[in-house]
Amino acid sequence: MRIDSRKKLMFSCIFLILIMFIFGKNIKILNQVSSMKVAASPVVKMSNNHSSSKKYRIVLDPGHGGIDRGTSYGNMNEKDLTLKIAKYAESYLKSQGDVVFLTRDKDKLVPLKEIGNKTNSYHADVFVSIHVNSLNDKNFNGITALYYDVNGYQKSERIRLAKTIESQAVKNDGWESRGIRRQNLAVLRYSKIPGVLMECGFITNDEDRKRLSNDDVLKRLAKNISDGIIKYLNENPQ
Ligand SMILES: [Zn+2]
Repeated sequence: MRIDSRKKLMFSCIFLILIMFIFGKNIKILNQVSSMKVAASPVVKMSNNHSSSKKYRIVLDPGHGGIDRGTSYGNMNEKDLTLKIAKYAESYLKSQGDVVFLTRDKDKLVPLKEIGNKTNSYHADVFVSIHVNSLNDKNFNGITALYYDVNGYQKSERIRLAKTIESQAVKNDGWESRGIRRQNLAVLRYSKIPGVLMECGFITNDEDRKRLSNDDVLKRLAKNISDGIIKYLNENPQ
């Protein structure tokens, strides 16, 4: 009897050790799997780059501000229109889950160099400056997207950005499409990320001015510009 119980005890011990060994190993394996999963998650996120659910970081620059009114017509000032459009775009993009940085959110002047420094510090995907055009010839109307590349820097990307946003911007309200143009502008030169300057109609043209004085038109324009930004970023071949 005593020998039997010893044997039983010994077998129980061996069985227990075996169980602990197998179980312990499994725990180790499980730990390995979960740590692999954690390590792998950023890669999974990156492969999501092109999906429409990807959230972006966007810098919006409402042109002029403070003592710099920009162009004007009567009591209509470019600096107020650009701030309105940028704020409408900001709230639309934020409602889509994107992160938006405004270079100004009130009526103040931000020096061009500071706009460039801010833009480059945000680690954003794209920079969009909002302006309104004017010309002595009152017949000129429509929307233009200006881009610039320093010695070919991001040239094809910047052209694609300008084309995509411009074609979206003119979608509603009968805006004339004036296409894109390369122009050496400080804010576009300073920006290390793809950037574009949108000239949103001519304040000197009767029809455009009528559009610019209508908040619903400005909201639609802001949404269309935003859709252009997202379209460009979703199609980014990087
Ligand atoms: Zn301007």
